Amino acid sequence: MQHRYGFVTMPVVNYYFDVLKTAVEHVTGQPLTPRRWANGASWAAFITHDIDNLYSAWKAPAKSALRQGRLLSFGRQLWRHLTTPDAWDNLAQVQQTVASYGAKSTFFFLPEHRPAANGTPNADYKLQKVWPEAAAAIGTSEIGIHVSLGAPYHAHLKREEHRLQHLRNGVKAYGIRFHYLQWEPRITPVILDTLLYKYDSTLGFAEYYGFRNSYCLPFYPFDFQQGKSFSFLEIPLNVMDATLHHPRYLQLEPEEILPALTLMFQEIERFGGVCTVLWHNENFDPANENTGPHQFAEIMDYLRSRNVAFVNGQEICEQMG
Ligand SMILES: [Zn+2]
Repeated sequence: MQHRYGFVTMPVVNYYFDVLKTAVEHVTGQPLTPRRWANGASWAAFITHDIDNLYSAWKAPAKSALRQGRLLSFGRQLWRHLTTPDAWDNLAQVQQTVASYGAKSTFFFLPEHRPAANGTPNADYKLQKVWPEAAAAIGTSEIGIHVSLGAPYHAHLKREEHRLQHLRNGVKAYGIRFHYLQWEPRITPVILDTLLYKYDSTLGFAEYYGFRNSYCLPFYPFDFQQGKSFSFLEIPLNVMDATLHHPRYLQLEPEEILPALTLMFQEIERFGGVCTVLWHNENFDPANENTGPHQFAEIMDYLRSRNVAFVNGQEICEQMG
């Protein structure tokens, strides 16, 4: 329906609720006051980073030099790779950049470095190995689990959860997002419910920004088997960096990005919702001029200028609970 009628960037459920709100106000003669976020802000933003790669910035330019037979350039890049930190090994920079807007980062870490059975890559790092440095780099930022591609589902998730929890001295991650936004409607929510997650933030489209559930606020998904809500909160994902400029997704020019997203931001602000942004750490690399630090800064400047409350997943759960 969203595709056929082209309303993926419109939260139609909020519009329907607004009609109901007007009706209720009319019948009761009482105005219904909308929810307020931290410091009285009318809407909120949730800034997140999936950590897929920490060590691969050098690969694409080095490969292309090799392919074109520019051996000197390849040699230089290989040397730099062996002697200096990778441009994507930048978690402290990510945390500090986001904090400079008065916002908080939530980092989703991938506990699996082996590729999935079909060859799709998972992490380019071994979580256990990088953990001491990564944990120091992100300070007190919120940490979630970024579950790798793989099956069987329940045991798989449980195993990855254990790995992260072990590194954190038994502290369980509050929230979760699946790698490649993998989501099986008949299975995934049941598992999240069973494993007692507080929130998930997977439900967005990779192909387009907007509202996968046509709704711009966090909600408790419905369990049709049991006839009641699940116990975890879904904080829908509205936009990720890769969607905006990618061979398989959109091909927006850098200067088209903010104007395109502004219309969606206005919808979220109008209904007092939460704007969830996914910006991968690798796209804080200045070498990315399409969906890089400059475009992220434009988005953050816009959000701040509209007096958004910057919140993390735990705060959203406390506020909605
Ligand atoms: Zn991922």
